[in-house]
Amino acid sequence: MTERSGYRIDDPEFWSPQALEGELRRVFQICNGCRLCHNLCPSFPALFSRTDALDPTREDAEGKLLAEGAPMEESEAVSRLASVRVSTENPVDRLGAADIRQVVDLCYNCKLCFPICPYVPPHEFEVDFPRLMLRAKAMRAREEGVTLQDRFLGATEFVGAVMTAASPLANWANHNPASRFLMEKTVGVHRERELPGWAPETFERFWEKRRDARGEGSEHPVAAGETPRALLFYTCHGNYNDPEVPQAAVEVLERAGVAVAAPPMRCCGMPALDGGDVEGCLAQAKENVARLLPWVDAGYAVVSPGPTCTFMLRHEYPELLRSGEARAVGAAVRDLGEYLVDLRRAGRLSLDLAREKPLRVAYHFPCHLKVQKIGMRSKQLLEKIPGVEVEAVDRCCGMDGTWGMKKEFYELSLGVAAKAKRGVEDVAEEASAAGCELAVASDCPLAALQLRQATGRKVVHPILLLRDACREADAKKKEG
Ligand code: SF4
Ligand code: SF4
Repeated sequence: MTERSGYRIDDPEFWSPQALEGELRRVFQICNGCRLCHNLCPSFPALFSRTDALDPTREDAEGKLLAEGAPMEESEAVSRLASVRVSTENPVDRLGAADIRQVVDLCYNCKLCFPICPYVPPHEFEVDFPRLMLRAKAMRAREEGVTLQDRFLGATEFVGAVMTAASPLANWANHNPASRFLMEKTVGVHRERELPGWAPETFERFWEKRRDARGEGSEHPVAAGETPRALLFYTCHGNYNDPEVPQAAVEVLERAGVAVAAPPMRCCGMPALDGGDVEGCLAQAKENVARLLPWVDAGYAVVSPGPTCTFMLRHEYPELLRSGEARAVGAAVRDLGEYLVDLRRAGRLSLDLAREKPLRVAYHFPCHLKVQKIGMRSKQLLEKIPGVEVEAVDRCCGMDGTWGMKKEFYELSLGVAAKAKRGVEDVAEEASAAGCELAVASDCPLAALQLRQATGRKVVHPILLLRDACREADAKKKEG
């Protein structure tokens, strides 16, 4: 557990502006000496370039060494450096409030710096850069209030319920320049950002109707048996924007012999946390833990197709809530691909998969799966489909939840996506040269949105490709 830079929100120090500033400068100083993350995201370059600019010693030394721009003998370099001023002042101490604010704002919480950092707990330095940035955002939200932009982007349940209830109008507004202009001016969503469509029927409604049609009442955990049981944490995006994804997850899980439950759940809380609304996130986290615990106690795995949601439930809830219940729930959480691969390894998954035409898949590996260190499970599953080759696109898409939707970061976000876009285009060229069809897949719905905008190509969740291969195998069986 992170003790200094994490979420010890019950500690008065957490909400002390002086303690936060001290912690920011302490961690920035360590990072400034380390610089391993110099190319991960816009946040670190902003920090390092500013500290370099504020370091008179560095300028002086570089000026002496680079003035003529040509290599020089070591003895000459030593003699020139003899006259360099040596400052004992730390340039990080000279960072102003605006500099710190910029570093914080440019962190989009991809978490990629955490697994590579040698100074994360239990190291005595206790560096947890992403959580420190979230703490700084939380402090700002407490001092200045949560902005309307962050309130809107964090209110996934309210906005989702309203938009799906009026989905034809909401989808029209998504593409209407006047309403997008208005949206940018009021809630700060960039007018050119492609937005997810709104489903005419939520996954929750679909699930209710399915249970009614089968004469099943409300859902309760069933007693343990031989059958693997999974509670599907279907995610806000799956509920309001793309119910086909949780529906496909149910179909594949049931084909694999898993008993699936999908009782109503709250948003995982990441959109609120991203905007600094710690209280809002905590309320959602507490309610989800209370709802999930009876299922977990009865032996259900909590399975989700959303990498950010699994990350929240598994890693952030225990840190935020610091309770045994949150830890028990976190320990039962599985990414959908991870769960299916685990079943397969246990010899409990035998899916019939088929595909008529050869397919090349550009599989985007989401940051929030990478940071969970569970590997490319969806890629492994897709590779089981006959005729399918999968190439990984292991680059951050730069969307990162709601960050890339904000008008002030939209352009930068697309810039971060350039390498992922190139990766997809490389696979597309290979597919074309090999005469294969191409599919672009990502487990993360927001990465899918970003890649769709960056490449102009349709991007699907891997579970849809898996479901299609199951259906194709069925069709073949019927024919044969
Ligand atoms: S987060 Fe860790 S690895 Fe990255 S620059 Fe800072 S100290 Fe180095
Ligand atoms: S979490 Fe991601 S965006 Fe934030 S500082 Fe780390 S690498 Fe950069």
